[in-house]
Amino acid sequence: MKIVALETLQVEAHGNIIWVELHTDQGLVGLGETFRNPAATIAYLHETVAPYLLGQDPRRIERHRFALAREVGSHFQGFPSRSIELRGNSAVDLALWDLLGQATGQPLYQLLGGLTHERVRIYNTCASAGYNSLARTGQDSLQIAPDAVAAGTVPLDDLNAQHQRPAELAAELLAEGITAMKIWPFDAYAKASRGLHIAPAELRAGLAKVEAIRQAHGDAIDLLIEYHGLWQLPAALEIARALDQLGVFWHEDPIAMHRLDDLARFKAGVRGRVAGSENLGSLAWYRSAFALGAVDVATFDLGWVGGFGEAHKITALAEAYDRPIAPHDCTGPAQLVANLHLCAAAPHSLFLETVRAYLAGFYRELLTELPRIEQGYAWPLQGPGLGTALQPDLRRRADVRIRRSALAD
Ligand SMILES: [Mg+2]
Repeated sequence: MKIVALETLQVEAHGNIIWVELHTDQGLVGLGETFRNPAATIAYLHETVAPYLLGQDPRRIERHRFALAREVGSHFQGFPSRSIELRGNSAVDLALWDLLGQATGQPLYQLLGGLTHERVRIYNTCASAGYNSLARTGQDSLQIAPDAVAAGTVPLDDLNAQHQRPAELAAELLAEGITAMKIWPFDAYAKASRGLHIAPAELRAGLAKVEAIRQAHGDAIDLLIEYHGLWQLPAALEIARALDQLGVFWHEDPIAMHRLDDLARFKAGVRGRVAGSENLGSLAWYRSAFALGAVDVATFDLGWVGGFGEAHKITALAEAYDRPIAPHDCTGPAQLVANLHLCAAAPHSLFLETVRAYLAGFYRELLTELPRIEQGYAWPLQGPGLGTALQPDLRRRADVRIRRSALAD
């Protein structure tokens, strides 16, 4: 079997999502996905990856991972995630795993050793339907999608709800059977002070949102607090210690996550778990972070760290350090499907990140199959490989952009 074409696809409405399709001479099509900086990532895939990959056997995944890592540096050592090259390599790696699953007739979880869990617990990230959707605007985390505002409908706007009616939002989630939620009550203050300090009134205002949930629902819902890496250590500690009185489940990316010495100090100073890091969670980063005892839950993003295979290696490393995984997805639907395969196979998977505003909305337009999610749990897809593909209609959308590199006939 050999790869005969590499295609990249985007739709303008969700322009941060980049799909890669790898087409083989046997008619199989492998799907990969990554997120953000689409133009540069797509250029890298066609200029650098395609000339290497076309004509190759897609089943030699490790060989291709190692070869493409040279484009990043010396095999990831010391390099952060989220570079353009790693985004492109991540999408290609997932597509190669999808092809391997299709070629062998097995779902991805089976290739990792089979199901440990029939179903995986989810948590809801309280975003809006349009959160993160725009390609080049650098949309603020407190904004609502302009198209939703213009339409006068803000469907499943969990982003506004987490700030304006947090206890009601928690009640809605509990009614759906969802028993964990992620919110970011302090981001606006970090942006005002550049993370240097938080005023007492700001701290009280952020805490009030968490207290409202606790007062209404007791300990029925786990609270995951997102900091988006916006704070310096003293301010992050001040917030986290105040939150700890309310029984927070985890503190996610509390500071700039390359500062592992500060992160270890943060961890030593709080009660709740430290979750990290979609921002910097490469295999090399986790080796250092786990060794320092600086992180409790591995929340890597497989679309940014090197792909499905790299995520599996990080999962094994987390097991070696006796820590759980909870992979990141506030991005695209193929990554959600891949994360679920990984979590269903791994004995020490804790949570699957989901965004109900995406699942009830645009994710359905994009893929042929999505996982069944009910009563706070997700069931992995059963078809070979990912078990899903891009909707055939996607290629006919007015806002689609497709670029193809192919072997000469
Ligand atoms: Mg996060």
